[in-house]
Amino acid sequence: QPDTVVGCTNRPSVNSKAFWTFGIRNWSEKIGSPSNSGDVESTLNTLNVLDELLSAGTDRRIHYMISKGGSEALLTALVNNARTFSPNYNILLPLLHLLAKVGHRDRRIGMKAEEAGAVLVTLNLLKHNIRHARRVAACLWVIQVFSSSVSTANLIGENYGLDKKAKNDAHSNDLSFLSIFHCPFISLTEANVWSIVSKGYISGLLKLYEDWHSKDTHHVAIAIRHALLCCLHNATQTTGGRQALISQGGIQLLYQTTQTCLLSKSLECLVESTVQLMRKCLPKTPLPLTSDKSAYTFPLPGRPHAVPDSSVGSDAEEDEDNQEANSTDYDDDLETDLNKLCLRPDLDRPKELLQQYSHLCPELSHDFQVHPKSLTALSLKLDIYLISGSCSVNILFPASSGETPPGQRREEQDGDEEGAEEGYHRTTIDRLLERHGACIPHHVPKLYRAAAAKTKSIPGFGILAFPDFWGHLPPPGHEPMAPRKPNTQRQKVFEDVQRFLNTDDIINLLVFDLENSSVQCRSDSLRFFSKFECGNLRKAIQVRRCEYDLILNADVNCSQHTQWFYFEVSNMVAGIPYRFNVINCEKSNSQFNYGMQPVLYSVREALDGRPRWVRTGTEICYYRNYFCPAQGRRKTTFYTLSFTITFKHNEDVCYLAYHYPYTYSALKAHLKVLQKSVDPAKVFFQQQILCGTLAGNSCPLVTITACPASKGWKDLHQLRNRPCIVLTSRVHPGESNASWVMKGTLEFLCSSDLVAQSLREAFVFKIIPMLNPDGVINGTNRCDVNSEDLNRQWCKPDPVLSPTIYHTKGFLYYLNSIGRTPLVFCDYHGHSRKKNVFLYGCSIKETLWQSGSAIDTVGLKEDPGYRTIPKTLDRIAPAFSFNSCNYLVEKSRSATARVVVWREMGVLRSYTMESTYNGCDQGIYKGLQIGTRELQEMGVKFCHSLLSVTKDTKLLYSRRLINHIDLDHNILDHKSHNCFEDDEPPCVEEIEYFTDFPTVKYTDLDSDVNSNMASPDEEEEINEGHSPAKCQQDCINDSIMKGNLFPPHIRQASIDGLSEKRNTCNGVSIANGQITS
Ligand SMILES: [Zn+2]
Repeated sequence: QPDTVVGCTNRPSVNSKAFWTFGIRNWSEKIGSPSNSGDVESTLNTLNVLDELLSAGTDRRIHYMISKGGSEALLTALVNNARTFSPNYNILLPLLHLLAKVGHRDRRIGMKAEEAGAVLVTLNLLKHNIRHARRVAACLWVIQVFSSSVSTANLIGENYGLDKKAKNDAHSNDLSFLSIFHCPFISLTEANVWSIVSKGYISGLLKLYEDWHSKDTHHVAIAIRHALLCCLHNATQTTGGRQALISQGGIQLLYQTTQTCLLSKSLECLVESTVQLMRKCLPKTPLPLTSDKSAYTFPLPGRPHAVPDSSVGSDAEEDEDNQEANSTDYDDDLETDLNKLCLRPDLDRPKELLQQYSHLCPELSHDFQVHPKSLTALSLKLDIYLISGSCSVNILFPASSGETPPGQRREEQDGDEEGAEEGYHRTTIDRLLERHGACIPHHVPKLYRAAAAKTKSIPGFGILAFPDFWGHLPPPGHEPMAPRKPNTQRQKVFEDVQRFLNTDDIINLLVFDLENSSVQCRSDSLRFFSKFECGNLRKAIQVRRCEYDLILNADVNCSQHTQWFYFEVSNMVAGIPYRFNVINCEKSNSQFNYGMQPVLYSVREALDGRPRWVRTGTEICYYRNYFCPAQGRRKTTFYTLSFTITFKHNEDVCYLAYHYPYTYSALKAHLKVLQKSVDPAKVFFQQQILCGTLAGNSCPLVTITACPASKGWKDLHQLRNRPCIVLTSRVHPGESNASWVMKGTLEFLCSSDLVAQSLREAFVFKIIPMLNPDGVINGTNRCDVNSEDLNRQWCKPDPVLSPTIYHTKGFLYYLNSIGRTPLVFCDYHGHSRKKNVFLYGCSIKETLWQSGSAIDTVGLKEDPGYRTIPKTLDRIAPAFSFNSCNYLVEKSRSATARVVVWREMGVLRSYTMESTYNGCDQGIYKGLQIGTRELQEMGVKFCHSLLSVTKDTKLLYSRRLINHIDLDHNILDHKSHNCFEDDEPPCVEEIEYFTDFPTVKYTDLDSDVNSNMASPDEEEEINEGHSPAKCQQDCINDSIMKGNLFPPHIRQASIDGLSEKRNTCNGVSIANGQITS
């Protein structure tokens, strides 16, 4: 009667920290003290209080208990209580449960258990209680927790699992053979698996499975068949096991048996398990590359030509957008050092160097009566023609384009392109333009061509991709997320397995190689091309008649970060589904599993008046594959993005991309168009060069504000005192969505909209729309050409290797030094794993609260104004989600723009704005994929939200233009969300193939253990005098076994064991693989 023993009448309040820290320490000591072992009631009481203390709070309490020696205390108590002559299970059960909960969070629990002698004690308990389901379950939970350490698992294997195995001959007694696998975790370690493999058990298991499969025609022994698969899963946890399975013809056997199981729904569990087993065992195949390093290399100043790959050996990327860490690590990552949060470090450069940025504030010294227009015509000789079979636009670059050397600043020249248009003959493209009239707002193809002619790329691009040149209009309607058909991935895996089995339809022919243009392809195969700005495709291999493997090019000078793709495909036949597999993706999950589709642009459609990127593709899935790096240095895991496209037109030229491309040349052309579009008497728009890039391109900086109403002192004074808003974007080249948001912002700020006009009158906008031009141009995903993530360089940016960051920071320092610290800073990004658009900001208090820091925050003063913009956006921007925002300062983000600008420049409202690649799961766009229209709208809404932070009373009128803007800064009504949590539900099909026995999550384990404790303990009802078979049926019934009693790893196997036993009872027995009844 545990309830009465607990003494729950005086339940303590467990909410105060002082109480629980004291309580946990005090009760932990009590439970572990030897004097306690005699007194049943007091021990139970102690256990109960501890359980209550630990259950009420977060994991932090358990970690606290572990840090105070709680695990050791529990282990001691276990050993003391179990070693008595007749152990008291009223104590042992709750003790084991508590140990499972605590031990699961203790990384060193295996070692501690060995030291305390608790491993063998628990195994003994298990052996002596094999007929008591609840006790067995409790022991198994604990053994499983202990097994987290390799040496402990080996110890368990030696003393229990394999010891038993050795005594049984697999072939003479199938049932006992199966029973030894009832604890699958026992075979997880190298030594244990080696033992299984060396004894030839794998071929035995395979043979058994085959026998069962062929003879169990009425499907009465599915559970046994499944148990055999579980055994195979365990036996193939290591390379040796997998090799043995392959050499015994296991893949072929599993593939063939599965095909016959597909039609029956009752065999689903077998199919699922077999598919995972085949995925896991397919031999690792190196990517068909001579080198994993990018096809593009760039010699860095001051370094030898062969650049060391800085990314080698580093773990999975830790970036602003993609969080793999679990919640424990996340809390560890929060910055709790008040000095680092509050104190501004010194300047990272001599103060004298700041003066060079004074010219970047032209509005302060501008003479507003004159609007000079410098017309320095360049004689560009352009020749554009249609290549047969391709609509790419070819450019002959001018011999000297007059580009300023890198690093040297000058005013951006205006009007280059006008001269370029003179004196070249009409081409096919010109005729096409005349006929079809590209009527895309803010896009002029000839301007684009002129801008592209000056863009410098590593391979020296001579061809423009048609969509960038011709332009794009968003489709008329919204595009819903793609529904995922069941078992899409399964079908793809079967096709992958067929490759290994080498069926007749495999072609395996290289059809495109970025590094070798002489590759010949068959007349009936697709043609690929990617040697253009932002293009990324390294190789294409025709696998089957209508199936192609695609390999992406790593970022320049390194061998990873593949995700972004953009390529041309032609020579297709209409109406035929083509399957594309991007086989070297690196992220462990993707929105492609949650309704996202790639984008496609058809030249034929564009020429028919529909110049659009459209979401397209069916049978889309993203899953871990069997490829490994070509040189095998890194333990990289690759994932396949697979999708199927049915083209509309024969012989079309199409482009496929990860997301709507936005090139550097597009930005340059766009800025030109904008400059021409504004009324210089009203809008002050100036494009300057912040600095040159490593590869010799220029990084533009744009100033936008309103011209003063007059040249009077008062108006000029108002102008010079307008607060600055600094916006940046596209530091990560693969995040083209960020550029579309920025495009929306720029166009809005230059427009004649009333709100835009008010904003120009209230603020001076300083915009750096592309922080990483070289990366964007050369089709990288994450890095600059120096193979560094530029958004990790902000603490001390290198003036030579990261010039754009160095000078952006210098410019911000300069603004600071002249008393014009920005009111708002926002860096636009794209987020590959989440939906919606949201902001990351910085707050000391929220960071300290979230981290559970002991620092008293009452005395800390913090302006809660950092929440105003996100709260406003939540109300006015349909794609925006306040609930996805957070304001936590992480150590791993200490060198990002957001954190550095907040900490070093003292900008309260310093943000990263993350836009989804996929779509929204809330608001009016719920269930829809995001398009360029919505991204641009987001850029407009961000501007709107700035009205909420102005103190200019003249703007009250404009504020009314926006509904419901709440100017209340003081309500902290939302808790920060943990940005590390994956906000997606589990994928319908496993992305990873090692998840057949998933690692138990804390919460799952807790709820399982709790439900085991909560149900009435029927131990005492067991009559020890029952016959074994009877007892088995009495004390273990289906509802217990199928419930949460056992660890998930062994639940299925245990059920199988039961069914198999029931079969025996019912007269169905198995001997030598024969079913008799
Ligand atoms: Zn980013």
